[in-house]
Amino acid sequence: MVMQIDTIKPHKIFPNQDLVCLRTMVHDDPGSISTYLKLGGYEQFKKILKNKIKPEAILAELKTSGLRGRGGAGFPTAIKWSFMSRDYDGIKYLVCNSDEGEPGTFKDRDILRYNPHQLIEGMLIAAYVMGTRTGYNYIHGEIWREYEIFEKALDEARSHGFLGEDILGSHFSFDLYAVHGYGAYICGEETALIESIEGKKGQPRYKPPFPATYGIYGKPTNVNNTETFASVPWILEHGGQAFQDLGVENSGGVKLFSVSGHVERPGNYEIKMGTPFSELLNMAGGIWHRRKLKAVIPGGPSTALVPAALIENATMDYDGLQKIGSSLGAGSVIIMDDSTCMVTALKRLSYFFYEESCGQCTPCREGTGWVYRVIKRIVDGKGTMEDLDLLTDVSKKISGRTICALGDAAATPVLSFIKHFRPEFEYFIEHGHSMIKAK
Ligand code: SF4
Repeated sequence: MVMQIDTIKPHKIFPNQDLVCLRTMVHDDPGSISTYLKLGGYEQFKKILKNKIKPEAILAELKTSGLRGRGGAGFPTAIKWSFMSRDYDGIKYLVCNSDEGEPGTFKDRDILRYNPHQLIEGMLIAAYVMGTRTGYNYIHGEIWREYEIFEKALDEARSHGFLGEDILGSHFSFDLYAVHGYGAYICGEETALIESIEGKKGQPRYKPPFPATYGIYGKPTNVNNTETFASVPWILEHGGQAFQDLGVENSGGVKLFSVSGHVERPGNYEIKMGTPFSELLNMAGGIWHRRKLKAVIPGGPSTALVPAALIENATMDYDGLQKIGSSLGAGSVIIMDDSTCMVTALKRLSYFFYEESCGQCTPCREGTGWVYRVIKRIVDGKGTMEDLDLLTDVSKKISGRTICALGDAAATPVLSFIKHFRPEFEYFIEHGHSMIKAK
């Protein structure tokens, strides 16, 4: 039975966007299967089944597209898919990682809300390529409506014969299930997510072995981000080269950027890779209240903060942000205006990582606590100049010494905030209050 969910209204978008993952958003009832079918939805999957297209041909198209994992790591998708052995005749799993939980990250929920069928079609194609019969979409525990919308989309896909046994008489079978997490940030790490699907506490595993050989219940498992899977049907419809050509070298296609913070129009913007940062800022309405840009975290809190002078002429792509000492991450662009106190902003971020550490490894469990307490001490007016060296020292000792990337992620903001805004920290320590006057 198809679930009843309130109809989602079409959404007005700012011009100059190139809609791939959110292409249904501007239509009536964007998340429904009828809208998706009207726009040519499921045609790529049907074409693959009808023409028995070889998985190698699909992988070649993906390779040409330059699609890289959109969850933050940026690993080439075609290569990741090719890690799954097609000769293995046991059970294999496919997993979509919709567990976005980092502050400022809210793109995948819009795909679930406005275009869940494109994600399902992308997963069907992935399952066909990798020879998997069972898939899960792990949805962040703090978003309920999107989970229900996705469940409804699964019901619709099943009732149209796109999921289940012997799909459309092709002898290909695949079923897909939604899994609702409990809201832990660390379950966005793929092996913690796998543990959680198995019903265990969501804690990252030691690697190797990697999920492609030892994933859910020890079986080969491919995990990709929501935006990554949802890009696949468009790539096959228009060709890998067309996707690559939307972007720039080394960063093919378009990308969803979640812009938040001190802008007039926060929201998701799906734009070409390589778009100048200034253009994205302009789409988001510019800095609010006619204030000035002070700094940006371009890819989410686990990526390095950059001051205005560095990012103003940068482009939004993997190489463009690497050149200025940061990275694209998940595309979560946090804008800070000149009323932002960097010391209190860092206190907030360091509390997040301290709170979300799973506690398995000592450098992360103890180090994130140390970092938070030292910054809090400074904010409370009890800091000393030695605390700045202590913060740097502790952060460097977390980095590279942990099971998963959360340790590095927790160290990155501390090191970049102090590197670029040290005088602000020194002023706070010396005077016991911020140098930034409230506006
Ligand atoms: Fe857990 Fe932190 Fe170690 Fe990751 S780095 S496994 S979050 S303690």
